[in-house]
Amino acid sequence: MTKGLIHHVEINVSNLEGSIAFWGWLLEELGYELYQSWNEGRSWKLEDSYLVFVQTEEIYLDASYHRKRVGLNHLAFYAKSREHVDVMTKRLEQKGISILYREHHPFAGGKKHYAVFFEDPDRIKVELVATV
Ligand SMILES: [Zn+2]
Repeated sequence: MTKGLIHHVEINVSNLEGSIAFWGWLLEELGYELYQSWNEGRSWKLEDSYLVFVQTEEIYLDASYHRKRVGLNHLAFYAKSREHVDVMTKRLEQKGISILYREHHPFAGGKKHYAVFFEDPDRIKVELVATV
């Protein structure tokens, strides 16, 4: 274990089924494996870190997520390479997932930052970035 590395992140979602379809596909593409599964949640793990998605209780569903509000803005994952970013961009498009900042893609994060940005079903922004 690397001290201080993220152990897990848990995210409440509005519709678990839709989140499982999206996150299951994405995380498994990135090498994660299904780790925990129960009626109200799922998690996927890669090495020593895992991500958990939990169905939000009905009484808390009135206030929806917005990344411009206080709280999480986005999650960023390492891509293997620039080519990997390109391949994933195509796969996202094939799945009908729209690419954010299209006009600046793949440099929406800056001239030296090769990445694709998109959204999960709750509109949590997701970034896949190539550092090599
Ligand atoms: Zn970022």
